[in-house]
Amino acid sequence: MENLYSLTAHKLKELMTKGETTPAAVAEQLFSRIEKCDGKIKAVVFNGKDNALKNAVASSGKNGRLAGVPVLLKDNICVKGEPTTCASKILAGFRPPYDATVTRKLKDAGAVLIGKANMDEFAFGSSCETSCYGPTKNPWDTARIPGGSSGGSAAAVASDETILALGSDTGGSIRQPAALCGVVGLKPTYGRVSRYGLIAFASSLDQIGPITKDTEDAALLLSVIAGYDEMDSTSVDLPVPDYSKALTKNVKGLRIGVPKEYFIEGLDKEVEASVRSAVALLKSLGAEVKEISLPHTEYAVSTYYIVATAEASSNLARFDGVQYGLRADNAKDMIDMYIKTRSQGFGNEAKRRILLGTYCLSTGYYDAYYLKAQKVRTKIREDFDKAFRACDCIITPTSPTPAFKIGEKTNDPLSMYLSDIYTIPANLAGLPAISIPCGFSKEGLPIGMQILAKAFDEETIFRAAYTFEQSTEFYRKRPKI
Ligand code: GLN
Repeated sequence: MENLYSLTAHKLKELMTKGETTPAAVAEQLFSRIEKCDGKIKAVVFNGKDNALKNAVASSGKNGRLAGVPVLLKDNICVKGEPTTCASKILAGFRPPYDATVTRKLKDAGAVLIGKANMDEFAFGSSCETSCYGPTKNPWDTARIPGGSSGGSAAAVASDETILALGSDTGGSIRQPAALCGVVGLKPTYGRVSRYGLIAFASSLDQIGPITKDTEDAALLLSVIAGYDEMDSTSVDLPVPDYSKALTKNVKGLRIGVPKEYFIEGLDKEVEASVRSAVALLKSLGAEVKEISLPHTEYAVSTYYIVATAEASSNLARFDGVQYGLRADNAKDMIDMYIKTRSQGFGNEAKRRILLGTYCLSTGYYDAYYLKAQKVRTKIREDFDKAFRACDCIITPTSPTPAFKIGEKTNDPLSMYLSDIYTIPANLAGLPAISIPCGFSKEGLPIGMQILAKAFDEETIFRAAYTFEQSTEFYRKRPKI
């Protein structure tokens, strides 16, 4: 039999139901796998082995939807009593007094939480290099970045160090690392999943979502974590479909839009070729393909870096050494304590964003930057509203290039920011979007394609993604570690 750690959640559930394996056996194997691989990959920042093994034994024979299935959480999702640091020195030693809603839902479904995944500090980044723990490595080539900010979650799934993972996505942080690590990552519609207990980056953009080995697991995990929550006033009170039912291998008559503004200079030739042949495959299976236009695409990155940094600067004001984590020593008074704590606690990218955001919100610049960005954001949303009158889903590349080298963009924030060019619009418009594997570069690096749909129409995304996946083998390939 295959190793248990390399299986999907749905396969493991099947084996457990038939009595062919147990949650304890799965957890044991998984922690040996982490011991063997994580020295190289560095995806796991807190290893919850002792609790996890106990919980695995306790979940045996239970019938929750994820009973006995291991899940790794991004380090910005609160777990009561467990370290939660956003990969930042400023949250050193912080253990939240409560569970995030997604954490509670996972526990209620019988999932076994195995620890915390590395990330860019406060989710600021596209490469996992801004983490205070040092970078995670891409399992396909350890000289390369895994993507970010949920790089630890994606690398852990790709290297079989977990079965399922959760990430968060503000401008692409689930989809881009999923693409660069050759796994599946879904950003749900804004409001679909509660953000209660997700340490906020940009509250109008953040969503939590699944990172998994296949589409079926993404549907399963979304079904567990989705739904209205009175603790998050932006969560939406709509019934949660059983997303597994949307996994039909049939795209007959599905109208796919391909935006011409996404196939531009800077897009890697191999990425373009893989995405175009994926679209051609769906067409051969009965989908209708048409070119569409999203004319305000070119403003998305600049709009995002105003809105996101403005919200981040305000959200990060709470980390001042008084209530959470780090407090600097030897301060002469309260103001000095704030200054010392924040200077020592935040890394360079966090400081850069606090400065940018504060600037955009300051008197005299608010109208010129923040207000203007909000107006452009509306234009971008309207582009999608219009496009979705003519098509049911939109297919694009997820990232303009495969994984880049560690260090390649660290001194050039602008080129780092541009790597989110295809993922940011979905956040600005609040739309759901998935990244699934659709090819490999000549160097053997994974390539991902993105499928977007209307708000709350994750089912169409699953239908298209599942049909593609079941007609190809890309998602089955795993790196040798
Ligand atoms: N890379 C983007 C940024 O740095 C997106 C991050 C995210 O989605 N959390 O803002």
